[in-house]
Amino acid sequence: MRLTAVKMAGFKSFVDSTIFKAPTNLTGVVGPNGCGKSNIIDAVRWVMGEGSAKVLRGESMTDVIFAGSSSRKPVGTATVELIFDNADGKAGGEYAEYSEIAIKRQVSRDGVSTYFLNGTRCRRKDVRDLFLGTGAGTTGYSIIVQGMISEIVGSRPEDIRGHLEEAAGISKYKERRRETERR
Ligand code: ATP
Ligand code: MG
Repeated sequence: MRLTAVKMAGFKSFVDSTIFKAPTNLTGVVGPNGCGKSNIIDAVRWVMGEGSAKVLRGESMTDVIFAGSSSRKPVGTATVELIFDNADGKAGGEYAEYSEIAIKRQVSRDGVSTYFLNGTRCRRKDVRDLFLGTGAGTTGYSIIVQGMISEIVGSRPEDIRGHLEEAAGISKYKERRRETERR
């Protein structure tokens, strides 16, 4: 699974519809301080189902919606869509056969999020399940933020084991077992 595009509208500083493309395996984002580089990463994490406002550098979950600027009024909705090339079939479950996967999350000022997988409304859980065992997703290691390396090095053995299990593709089976046990 490879992220090829991030489409944003009303998300943080990206008030107008914006498409960020990653056409090759290595894409750099450069720009002056405050221009929105980190906001693109926040957008990616948000669509993957991130539920912590703090991780997204805000105080409440509706802080991701464009809050207005000196020349623009605030907007009511934030939408982000991630496009993944799934030629390697790494996406889990029924999505393995799709060559391209589009995941969209939308939120309005009431704080209610809606998710879509290839255009069909789905649950947050479906999005999270899709990423389990791929290394991406909110508990994955494919986004290495500042301070994360030292956090991993200094973390408890149980937490290091969690990273190894995600890398080995075991975490999705453990999650399924936990769900079965809860029923
Ligand atoms: P640096 O190089 O300092 O890391 P950066 O390019 O990563 O900067 P970001 O942190 O992505 O910059 O962007 C910060 C900008 O996004 C700020 O100008 C901030 O006002 C704006 N911003 C964040 N949330 C919102 C929001 N909800 N509405 C409008 N603008 C926002
Ligand atoms: Mg930054």
